[in-house]
Amino acid sequence: MDRESMTDIRQLFPSDDGNAERRNVMLGLFEQLLKGTDALKDPDAVYLKGSKDRSGSFYRDILKTSSVPAQGMKMEEVGDKLLHLLHAHPYHTKYFLTNILPMASIPGIAGMLAAFMVNGNNLWDVYGPAGAEAEVNVIAMMSRVAGYDPLVSGGYTTWGGQGAIFTGLRMAIAKFAPEAKRRGVPDNLYAFCSEAAHYSLYKSMEATGLGSDRLVRVRTLPDSSMDTADLRRKLEQVIHKGGIPVYIVATTSTTDAMGIDDVSSVRETAQSVAAAHGLQRPHIHADSALGGFFAFFNDYDFEANPLAFSAPVLEALGAIRSRMIHLSLADSLCFDFQKLGQTPYTTSLFLVKNAQDLNLVDLEPEETPYVGHRGYGQYHTGYTLECSRMASSISIYSALLAFGADGYRRLLAQFVEVNLAFRAELALRAPELVVVNPANPGIITLFRIYPKDVPGFWEEVAGGCTLDQIRRTNEMNERLFEALGEGRDRMFFGDTKKHLVVKTKDGNQTALYASKLFVISPYTQVEHVGEIVTYLKQVAAAVIAEYEAHSMKEGLVPLET
Ligand SMILES: *Cc1c(COP(=O)(O)O)cnc(C)c1O
Repeated sequence: MDRESMTDIRQLFPSDDGNAERRNVMLGLFEQLLKGTDALKDPDAVYLKGSKDRSGSFYRDILKTSSVPAQGMKMEEVGDKLLHLLHAHPYHTKYFLTNILPMASIPGIAGMLAAFMVNGNNLWDVYGPAGAEAEVNVIAMMSRVAGYDPLVSGGYTTWGGQGAIFTGLRMAIAKFAPEAKRRGVPDNLYAFCSEAAHYSLYKSMEATGLGSDRLVRVRTLPDSSMDTADLRRKLEQVIHKGGIPVYIVATTSTTDAMGIDDVSSVRETAQSVAAAHGLQRPHIHADSALGGFFAFFNDYDFEANPLAFSAPVLEALGAIRSRMIHLSLADSLCFDFQKLGQTPYTTSLFLVKNAQDLNLVDLEPEETPYVGHRGYGQYHTGYTLECSRMASSISIYSALLAFGADGYRRLLAQFVEVNLAFRAELALRAPELVVVNPANPGIITLFRIYPKDVPGFWEEVAGGCTLDQIRRTNEMNERLFEALGEGRDRMFFGDTKKHLVVKTKDGNQTALYASKLFVISPYTQVEHVGEIVTYLKQVAAAVIAEYEAHSMKEGLVPLET
């Protein structure tokens, strides 16, 4: 396309008659992008090629110079500009070991492209019939995976695991205070989640106007799951003060340690406390944004083991399954396909066990327009917080068809296997890197280093350390974060300052800092673990040596334990 022909603005659109010429223009652009991206790849690095200094005045300089071009550029030039954005971008190679930032799979991307071909609006099935059909499909598919009855359940695709938690809270408020939609939210409603829960609920409390002071944090057990004895105590306390517990978020699983709340025990606790006080049971949302995909193992035949997983992998998956099997006891839940579902952002699926619950947050209660239960032209999503919605369901649909249950099982089992190998290798070659989520098999390993004179992890968990000791250990681990951060173009690890809140010997409490190996790239294999551990050992040794030398110089005497 030269600049002359650009006077016909139709050149910038796909054809309306299916002509090959326009199709080839699009294919050419796709090819430019695919080839251009491939040319930037290096399987032994974490970043795509190209140098870009994003520090200093990088963004300010953009603000100073960037404006809309008076004349449009040639598409090939635009393609070059787009590729330039990708320079030095993190990429999901074998050494990409940080947090839940997955690669978008080929079927996931293809599903997006299919959606863009018609660009329907999933506000209403008349405007977006393809997206609506895919949405009903994926609701049925994932309801079955979660153990919901697809003829009773409902749901929709939304803005993230956070959007799911938010709508769960909206429903919870509506269950207890039907007038709240008109009159505003009463000030005696309380929500609960564990200390290890995602901050989504905190934000939702703000946004609904309940306020984060009405969010009660329940203690966690050493495996990062909710301590339901503490839940019981805190529910009682709230009720005793005249509050009403409306919402409990059971995290299945946590983003840091992969702790999995026992939804069955959370539900029983909520039920029995509520009944004892003549109250309705609070709405229970399973925050399965990350861990929900492990429900694919709920109906795996562990005896016959058709996918031939090794005994240790099977054992790990069995432990996860013993918790995930209770998912269907939650009133609502979420599958974040942009996490373990292998689709691009944003592709999150919110499910409710009983589709009727969506009416609670609908615009007009006299209508019951929930997904899958009405005819064409009547599926109008008045209950979503969004108005216009993308047809992200098509991408989800595509991935589910292409991977199949076995595809997801294989991928997750591979992540688990690499983690097991990593832990074994640490124990063997790098015991100074202490695994601090040993009771959580899965795709994440948290590890922590300790100063010489400070007691270790189990002592911390048992409340045997002083606040000062834990602070010193945290500080040392923060230096490890920094050292690993400096080398993240080589290997990219995650970290957290919020692993396990522990009690201290001197009556305080504090969270533990830990570095994180998050297996998320399909390209990370067991054979890479040796090299990963060698690298970590090297970086940690330098941090430890520097820390100990520094303490000596400062004349810090070992603290009494
Ligand atoms: C990622 C995550 C969320 C937030 O999900 P988004 O899709 O980023 O909005 C909530 N809860 C848990 C447990 C998560 O891992």
